[in-house]
Amino acid sequence: MRIPEVKINEIRNSTNIIDVIHNHVALKKRGKNFIGLCPFHQEKTPSFTVSEDKQIFHCFGCGKGGDVFKFLMSYKNISFIEAVQEIAEHAGIKLSFANESVSQEQTEQELLYEINVFAAKYFSNNLLISNDGEIARQYFKKRNIKASTQKTFGLGYAKPEWQDLVSLLTDNNFDLKKAEALGLIDRKTEGGYYDKFRGRVIFPIFSANGRVIAFGGRVFEADKNTAKYLNSQESIIYSKRKSLYGLYHSKDEIRRMDRAILVEGYMDLISLFQNGVKNVVASSGTSLTDEQVQLLSRFTHNIIVLFDADSAGQKAALRSIEILLKQNFEVKVVSLPEGEDPDSYIHKFGKDDFDSLVSKSKNFLEFQTEQFNKSGMLNEP
Ligand SMILES: [Zn+2]
Repeated sequence: MRIPEVKINEIRNSTNIIDVIHNHVALKKRGKNFIGLCPFHQEKTPSFTVSEDKQIFHCFGCGKGGDVFKFLMSYKNISFIEAVQEIAEHAGIKLSFANESVSQEQTEQELLYEINVFAAKYFSNNLLISNDGEIARQYFKKRNIKASTQKTFGLGYAKPEWQDLVSLLTDNNFDLKKAEALGLIDRKTEGGYYDKFRGRVIFPIFSANGRVIAFGGRVFEADKNTAKYLNSQESIIYSKRKSLYGLYHSKDEIRRMDRAILVEGYMDLISLFQNGVKNVVASSGTSLTDEQVQLLSRFTHNIIVLFDADSAGQKAALRSIEILLKQNFEVKVVSLPEGEDPDSYIHKFGKDDFDSLVSKSKNFLEFQTEQFNKSGMLNEP
């Protein structure tokens, strides 16, 4: 997809960089320019400057700078084309790409997205309508996940067969090498391919702007021969450390409430969401990365960590908190009663109870002191 230079200039001139940036960063007028806290590095005094005359931004702290497209690309982690499209759409400028050559890289990415969308629909149909999907429907029924919620999150089911997806991809003329690069299928030693996700419920992983970038699959019953979770490998459209499960669905509510709730697992998130707690993100069992926290910081700097006291994830939660604090998040912590996880808690006690539990959250220092007291670490020797 290539947009002619003259069109790009027209689109750039149709907007004011101040308005675009001000949607994401609080700006104050300072002389001829506007200044604010840089969204690309951590700072307490503003060194991020936007010039209305020149229609550019520049940060004197980290050196990032450029025009309005560059800002959107960095801020939203999108491509140049996507940034141009966003501004054009806003300005009501029509983009037609007829007879224009399509850039190689863009095409490559789009083909991967197409395969993921195809696979996501396949998994979803398996769950929602196929006869074989009964076992998965029973699984979600037992976990109290409604069909409408299953649709919202695009949940699915991978049959136990070894070549179901492979043959469908083949029938639909998809490039199997690309499906392999996405981690959906793998090569057999004797030649040919096999499905990597088998006998699992499927959780598609969306980018912050709603594209299917990867999949997580969970077995019904954990046993010692099978990993409980299987995740797509990294690809040119999926970087694990840069994506945050649930953010696409929860970002509006997070921005509205100016607060996010951090849970561990997919099911915790989906269960809370279904029960009306919609400002949730999940760390997927590991600790948050710097990049994930950076991503979240576009929507809020306030977070409540749901601390599951019994969980093996306790260490990961503490590590996440450390990273959140480093990036100037206001961190609060809620301990769940013994034996409960967010999923079981909201199901047993409902949203009102959950909200009141959250309203009693403690700031992290208080929480830590309490933990030390409990374990006797601050007692006199
Ligand atoms: Zn900066």
